[in-house]
Amino acid sequence: MKKEFEFIDYLRNQITNKPANLIAGIGDDAAIFITPNNYQNLISTDLLIEDTHFKLKYTPADLLGYKALAVNLSDIAAMGGEAKYFLLSIARPKTLSDEFLTDLLLGMFELAKKYKVSLIGGDTSASSDKLFLNLTVLGESLVNKAVMRSGAEPGDEIYVSGKLGGAALGLELLQKGKRLTDNNLTKIEKSALLAHLKPEPKLDLGSQLVKSQLVTAMIDISDGLSSDLGHICKESQVGAIIDSALLPLFDGATMDQALNGGEDYELLFTVPAEKVGQVKELAMLFPNLSITKIGVITSNLTKFLITQNGQIPLKPCGYDHFG
Ligand code: ADP
Ligand code: MG
Repeated sequence: MKKEFEFIDYLRNQITNKPANLIAGIGDDAAIFITPNNYQNLISTDLLIEDTHFKLKYTPADLLGYKALAVNLSDIAAMGGEAKYFLLSIARPKTLSDEFLTDLLLGMFELAKKYKVSLIGGDTSASSDKLFLNLTVLGESLVNKAVMRSGAEPGDEIYVSGKLGGAALGLELLQKGKRLTDNNLTKIEKSALLAHLKPEPKLDLGSQLVKSQLVTAMIDISDGLSSDLGHICKESQVGAIIDSALLPLFDGATMDQALNGGEDYELLFTVPAEKVGQVKELAMLFPNLSITKIGVITSNLTKFLITQNGQIPLKPCGYDHFG
């Protein structure tokens, strides 16, 4: 797999089953697919850069592949859509081994199989120094059923899936020298490392929330709760009050990691007060995922956090690449 076209052929050979609506995938100038009647297309892209988003010294190749796809699928989950296809553009430094690349693809295809998303194209280039991965994911939702950030109304209750702060705790441990391969890791350390290195896109929860017609607005937590809640509030022209006592902290994580850490890839969503009774029923479909009420949407465009010492402004302190 030394040459560019050998690499593309290798990729092509990894693809075993072709979806019915895919007319042409890898191998032509562009891919062709049919979107069924009554469905609309969703498209999203994410860029992962060595030493900005990940460091090779602590990232196993297969998990890098898994995560690169997972963070893209998470955007489709946050719309309540179904992921269908993806494109993979890769800029490969000369120093990166064939073995690393093969393992990266193994991890990526493991996740692709799990959610039945097909690789349909991409681009391949050399890079003078760092590894760059850019994925574009295409999904579908029924017309007018995708959940946007802009639908939250005053009085809606705010929910979050899973636990918060695990990915930030995992990153802190990696920076302190802990590795997944260490054999003296505690259970908490191991699950925090996995929270950072192998996030799970919440596609099933997202689509179930849409099916149940429970949500008014939704976002995935990539930058951090404080920032991502801010995006919902800005787009919906509303405010919010979050109760810190209700936040589902990942074991071992701090309040700061839960609020501002980011990369948890959990779903943050709002539910009208008259429908909150149905959230419990929906939660029963996801026995391994907690779904927690953490606050309420308000009309006054300000964001507050209730703490032991009273109410304080909730500032967006999540990750900012230009910050
Ligand atoms: P072009 O010169 O038209 O850009 P390429 O030679 O780059 O064509 O690509 C040939 C085919 O291989 C295209 O279908 C393209 O989508 C696919 N391809 C190239 N690189 C990748 C990649 N990293 N992952 C998936 N498909 C790829
Ligand atoms: Mg090309």
